[in-house]
Amino acid sequence: MLKVEHIGIAVKSLQQSIPLFEKLLQTPCYKTEVVESEKVTTAFFQKGETKIELLESATEEGVIARFIQKKGEGIHHLAFEVADIKKEMSRLEGEGFTLLNKEPKPGADGKLICFLHPKDTNSVLIELCQEA
Ligand code: ZN
Repeated sequence: MLKVEHIGIAVKSLQQSIPLFEKLLQTPCYKTEVVESEKVTTAFFQKGETKIELLESATEEGVIARFIQKKGEGIHHLAFEVADIKKEMSRLEGEGFTLLNKEPKPGADGKLICFLHPKDTNSVLIELCQEA
């Protein structure tokens, strides 16, 4: 694990949340992107070395829609940058963590990603990401 790459925040509406975070962070949203594999639309802000990723569900049954139904809007996951995602995935699996995908998959912002099951991480959803 190299650093916290970004913090993912589940929101109901990017249209409302983008201007809010632009005001909060005093920085413009530099990109929005649909991630097909996750059925979400994302919006990114860069602050120093760390990014904030807002996530809006693209469908009514998507993971973000279900998260908001259960817990409301708020912090959804922490993403850590890794140098070699496959190596890190097998290391973590060996340590007893549960990988939510067996192979790295394409995520937002040109990354390869893998999520860890929150049951092993004090209910914090962890994402590993590597520059693709
Ligand atoms: Zn993320």
